[in-house]
Amino acid sequence: MNRKNKLMIFQKINILAHHGRQTIPELDAVVLPDIFRGRPVIQPGASPSQAQTLSALCPTGAIGAEPLSIDLGRCIFCGECAHHSPEVVRFTNDYRLATTLREALVVTEGVDRPIPFHAENIRSELPNLFGRALKLRQVSAGGDNTNEMELNASGNVNFDLGRYGVEFVASPRHADGVVVTGPISENMAIPLEIAYNAVPEPKVVILVGAEAISGGLYADSPALDRRFLERHPIDLYVPGNPAHPLTFIDGVLTLIGKKESRA
Ligand code: SF4
Repeated sequence: MNRKNKLMIFQKINILAHHGRQTIPELDAVVLPDIFRGRPVIQPGASPSQAQTLSALCPTGAIGAEPLSIDLGRCIFCGECAHHSPEVVRFTNDYRLATTLREALVVTEGVDRPIPFHAENIRSELPNLFGRALKLRQVSAGGDNTNEMELNASGNVNFDLGRYGVEFVASPRHADGVVVTGPISENMAIPLEIAYNAVPEPKVVILVGAEAISGGLYADSPALDRRFLERHPIDLYVPGNPAHPLTFIDGVLTLIGKKESRA
């Protein structure tokens, strides 16, 4: 080995030593900073007019007035409600928001407990078949690239989703399920269906982000075709706008039985 090559190797070792260990050793031990907007808590006792005001200011219709509630499947976590009425709404840094039941995403006033996962909805074959390895094909159905970037981040050196045997693959034929992001625009409805059909049975469907779960800001747009959701059962809802990598990882690992379910 000549002197130049030796120097190059030394420099690389130096860089690696400088970076140190970047993988988060225990994801469950991570506490996100208070600035992170996770599960909301609504104080009971807001007046009807206050509830109506909050409901009217929400850009996605996520706030219900009777009782006062926030639907995390619609919420884009803009923070407007908490900014307007901090004595009524506050966001905690709890990122464990994923669940198998759409209705479980509705947080009502006076409730300050984790979002229940509803493990009874997990198909019995999923942990057996995919508990050791789950390959997913991601389909951005009119997405804005935010959820897509966070899903990408879930596999980076920090979160290292691959250590649990969960990975994104290029072809739906090599996948065990599809991860849908975006509100499902009309022109992506058929490609999404084709990708879904190419995944062998049994297959998993995961919706990531408010747009995929409810349409988000585009819910009333005539440019959407969301009939895919009527045709196929959904295994996991991962809220957020975009969803945090830890929210996705926590949900997927619970779905395949690698983590204990939240009651
Ligand atoms: S944070 Fe969510 S519930 Fe509050 S105003 Fe924004 S979208 Fe609506």
